[in-house]
Amino acid sequence: MLVPVDLGGDGASVADVVDVCYMLGAACASSGMIFAMHQIQVVILLRHARSSPWHEQLLRRLCDEQLLFASSTTENQTGGAVRSSACAVERDGSRMSLVKNGTVMSYGAEADGVFLTARRTPDSPPSDQVLVAFVKGDYELEKIKEWDTMGMRGTCSTGYTLRGCGSVDQVIPESYERVHPQSMVPIAHLTWSAVWCGVAAGAVARARRFVRKGAAQGTAQSAPGASHLTRAMMLLRALRGTIASAVTSYEAAVNEPERLEAIDFQSGMNLLKVNSSETAIEIVMHAFQACGLSGYRNDGEFSVARQLRDVMSSSIMINNERILAGAATSLLLFDVPSRLRD
Ligand SMILES: Cc1cc2nc3c(=O)[nH]c(=O)nc-3n(C[C@H](O)[C@H](O)[C@H](O)COP(=O)(O)OP(=O)(O)OC[C@H]3O[C@@H](n4cnc5c(N)ncnc54)[C@H](O)[C@@H]3O)c2cc1C
Repeated sequence: MLVPVDLGGDGASVADVVDVCYMLGAACASSGMIFAMHQIQVVILLRHARSSPWHEQLLRRLCDEQLLFASSTTENQTGGAVRSSACAVERDGSRMSLVKNGTVMSYGAEADGVFLTARRTPDSPPSDQVLVAFVKGDYELEKIKEWDTMGMRGTCSTGYTLRGCGSVDQVIPESYERVHPQSMVPIAHLTWSAVWCGVAAGAVARARRFVRKGAAQGTAQSAPGASHLTRAMMLLRALRGTIASAVTSYEAAVNEPERLEAIDFQSGMNLLKVNSSETAIEIVMHAFQACGLSGYRNDGEFSVARQLRDVMSSSIMINNERILAGAATSLLLFDVPSRLRD
């Protein structure tokens, strides 16, 4: 939906995509997250690979064949440190090859292509990264880890060793050092936040129906958890506003790479992720308290067990502790605002 009309897409905006993430998340967190992760790769193609005929052709194929793209950043050796790669691109004339131990690769087996971070050459340091686009047929997957998790089971984020080869043209022309702050960080954190907010909204909808049912039966005043619904709704309002405002700030900066890379913008997007995940978990917990045993049950129309299991992934999908530790120093550079509005 993000691809411009002249390349066969719908020409939708990032704001539209974020909205769809919210709607999908309210129905199924895994579907929302798969959609979100795919869109990150599409934005990267659109923003950082338009000078490359190979990737332009991939964009056309994406629309014509309705391809689904996966992403592999997490590695055996580096864990959730996205700006660090162990695997490396090995060039041989116009060809290149790559072996990556991707310990978490959502829908890796089902995807039509995968975008991988890797060191530029075998001699490059871990932070000198490029992004490589492989399409099915370019690579083989060997399963190294199952995906048996408490939630988000539908993302099928199995671990694989990926062995791939292709043309050197498949390396995204822009360095990952630029791709990461300009696209990966903002689009991941906007779309993921919207998915988690949607999951929270789905839980609130159940709690609302539960309390309304009690009210219809004349028991609302005595429902011990009813005030939790009010808190859940209050927090949901605030979170929706926070994400909408972050979308506005992305749109304002989108055509200015320096602004996107500025510490202030990066901190804002990183803290959005932490804030959204913490708030979404809190909202689902309030919905759970509002529903009581009916929420705790795995069966029944008021169960929020699945939302609770799914939303817990938000704090470790790029670990909040890692983000907070990284943000601590940069935040010291900024004064506490003296005015309410910038
Ligand atoms: C649903 C889901 C889907 C995913 N899909 C994909 C995918 O498609 N592709 C992909 O590549 N990855 C994927 N991931 C993995 C994700 O991107 C992260 O790599 C992973 O969630 C990080 O997990 P972690 O907390 O164990 O690792 P790490 O971030 O390595 O953290 C490990 C531990 O170290 C601690 N820690 C790390 N840094 C610090 C620090 N600076 N200060 C204090 N403590 C620290 C953390 O608190 C944590 O306890 C997915 C994850 C989830 C949950």
